[in-house]
Amino acid sequence: MADSDYIVGIDLGTTNSEIAVYKNGEVRIIKKNDRDILPSFVGITPEGALLVGEEARNQMLLYPERTVRSIKRKMGEDLSVPLGDRQFKPQEISAFILRELAQWAANFMGSPARRAVITVPAYFSDAQRQATREAGALAGLDVLRIINEPTAASLAYGIQEVGQKTVLVYDLGGGTFDVSIIAMEGEVTEVLASHGNNHLGGDDFDALIAERLAQHFEQEHDINLRHDYPVAWSRIWRAAEEAKIKLSEAPFVTVREETLVVSNGIPRHLELELSRQEYEALILPLVESTLDSVTKALQDAGKTTNDINAVLLVGGATRTPLVARILEERVGMEPRQDIHPDLCVALGAGVLASRLAGHDIDRVLVDVTPYTFGVRCIGEVDGRTCDHRFAKIIHRNAPLPITRTELFYTTCPYQKSVAVDIFQGEDEDIYNNIPVGKFIIEDLKPVPEPNEILCRMALDINGILTVTAIEKCTQKSKHITIENAMRPMDEGELAEARKRITELYASDEVYIGDTESNDEEQEKEITAGDHGDAVALMKRSEMLMDKMHDEDKEEAIELLERIKDALEADDEQTLREALDELKELIFYIEGK
Ligand code: AMP
Repeated sequence: MADSDYIVGIDLGTTNSEIAVYKNGEVRIIKKNDRDILPSFVGITPEGALLVGEEARNQMLLYPERTVRSIKRKMGEDLSVPLGDRQFKPQEISAFILRELAQWAANFMGSPARRAVITVPAYFSDAQRQATREAGALAGLDVLRIINEPTAASLAYGIQEVGQKTVLVYDLGGGTFDVSIIAMEGEVTEVLASHGNNHLGGDDFDALIAERLAQHFEQEHDINLRHDYPVAWSRIWRAAEEAKIKLSEAPFVTVREETLVVSNGIPRHLELELSRQEYEALILPLVESTLDSVTKALQDAGKTTNDINAVLLVGGATRTPLVARILEERVGMEPRQDIHPDLCVALGAGVLASRLAGHDIDRVLVDVTPYTFGVRCIGEVDGRTCDHRFAKIIHRNAPLPITRTELFYTTCPYQKSVAVDIFQGEDEDIYNNIPVGKFIIEDLKPVPEPNEILCRMALDINGILTVTAIEKCTQKSKHITIENAMRPMDEGELAEARKRITELYASDEVYIGDTESNDEEQEKEITAGDHGDAVALMKRSEMLMDKMHDEDKEEAIELLERIKDALEADDEQTLREALDELKELIFYIEGK
């Protein structure tokens, strides 16, 4: 099938829209200028030029009356929407968005997009579905299928591939919330029940933050922004959304808006620090209200949480950590969000589109981190307080790129420096994980109380990990960049590592005696306790290196270094644990 016969999958969303297509064996999201999301905004400039997406969204600040947002809410209604001095039907506004996305596809594929699968909410009526088809036709697209968004999400996760499944899809977008229970078997999908709130979403979280900011501004300057200052109010909304997004990855955010208004000739600024805790308290009632819909959907489907095989998070607002937490408590199962929640529906539409185009595709490829990254801290390991607890910051299977920030405290009064010890792995004990970097932030403000230190980790799709420590009260910061944090070692690095390990045998510190010793002497050492064990096992594992796959080699090298550290530190327990693990690995390799 020629590329020119391609079919696109489109998520025509209330707040944002996305488009996916099959190319080179995989379904992928099409980007424009590195952006994979098109804000569902349409505007007309005072000069009469049409704006779609980001530009229209930007113009909303200046010309709210010349800009339209959330048109999806009006689909299927027989009305006209004013845009500047003109009037449009909802499907015409949607057609502008679809046409822009089709243009992205044409640029990417090198030929015009002609056919599409478009998603709609499960609760959409026939009239709303028909209006969506018409929007497609107005944009020059032959709409082959209209599919339900939760079904698309399940397709993206490849759920239907494995037997009969019952899936709970929790979709919290910008302006709508719905939860659906889906039964999937092979190609057959059925929406068993769907519930939701057509007027609940991330925008309501913005509204609560905006209200909080406006209150603060009123307290500081005695000016009520809500009615007479449309531009300032738009800025507040935008700042609120930015703050919300930051709070998904950081425990605090400082909102600063310079010269929000000028009154009596004096510029009035807004500045407020908002903590995630305070924000979560604001939105908790809204998030909890979604659980009623979860209960109703389960009841209507005749299912209980025990029947659910997977919980999928869809929609940009599910990135709010509180959402996954509350839902997990309710359903008793960790929700999956390893496909970008805001791209998942478009990818699923892309899966169906590629099937219709005759491509055999069984899953979508997304970049996720295969490892957890975090830092060393003081905490409990095996019920005992120690200084080698692993504090996870970026969790395994998180879609990339990702940034996460956590708050830590200094432990001693007047502490002037903090060592940031970075590890990769899953164990609560850092000694069972792999060290990937380390740095020290110095000259901290000497304060008697615990000093707040933020640790921010950013991992991009190329595996570059940037770790930044920030002293919150002074904003003093220091960072390191670790290249290739996710890549297994290459041959050169393995050779280097082997050299390091060989050197271990010669090192006095390791307390292993003569590396030239003959086998008899070694045998003696072996029976002489853990140190002797270490020598024999280290030698044996080195001899096996060439037989090992890269992952095993890495594990062996990591274990050897841990054994060395334990010998140096005279840490019998760690030594024994590491030796046991090395024995197991050798047993496994030799048994291959
Ligand atoms: P959607 O309608 O699925 O595109 O979702 C859009 C909503 O997700 C908007 O309210 C966004 O502000 C919100 N959103 C996007 N990214 C994040 C994030 N990282 N944390 C919280 N909300 C987000």
